[in-house]
Amino acid sequence: MQIAIDGPAGSGKSTIAKIVAQKMGFTYIDTGAMYRGVTLYFLEHHVEPGDLPEIKARLGRIRLDFKEGRMHLGERDISKDIRSPEINRRVSDYARIPEIRLALQKQQREIARKKSVVMDGRDIGTYVLPQAEVKVFLSASDEERARRRQRDLLERGYEASFEEILDNLKQRDAIDSSRAHSPLKKAPEAHGIDTTRMSIAEVVAEIISIIGGVEPCSD
Ligand code: C5P
Repeated sequence: MQIAIDGPAGSGKSTIAKIVAQKMGFTYIDTGAMYRGVTLYFLEHHVEPGDLPEIKARLGRIRLDFKEGRMHLGERDISKDIRSPEINRRVSDYARIPEIRLALQKQQREIARKKSVVMDGRDIGTYVLPQAEVKVFLSASDEERARRRQRDLLERGYEASFEEILDNLKQRDAIDSSRAHSPLKKAPEAHGIDTTRMSIAEVVAEIISIIGGVEPCSD
């Protein structure tokens, strides 16, 4: 079974997708972490988004792997490094490059072909898994998303002002929604949930109830 959870940054996707996956016994795939991992690699190798020949030459060499819920680049655990303010600032500029998107989307489809998944991102219901049995699109007010992001960052040991975070979220939404290739968009058939005034448990319960009403595919 495939469950696609999309939405903008700070809408609660990863927290909620992780719990839904646990409850269903499915594998959770955080596609944002993959775009962040690629961004970290290119920044560390001083390859700018405009340098397409270098990006194309290096893309095939980047080994991203989820091991026990942690993101790895080769053998290195990059779970913390990919959440830095620097990556937040730069990730959408790399994620808009079609060559990068096609390479990661291929890997995402491969994973979902082999097992039942809850996959979160921006383009899962519209592009990566258009056949997903369940599609959810989460949203929340800009201020609430910035508050959540600030809390997350603090827990990870990064400090940033509310205004800085709000600006970053809006900037990322603008780039993510306006790019030509697989932009952030609600699939017409996706269930929209505004999480602004909902608890995590309430959102999870709503998604589980949506899943409950769906016949799983036999293959
Ligand atoms: O979900 P998260 O905020 O970690 O995603 C980081 C960035 O990766 C997004 O702002 C977006 O630019 C990109 N992304 C994407 N497509 C996805 C997941 C993430 O373009 N499926």
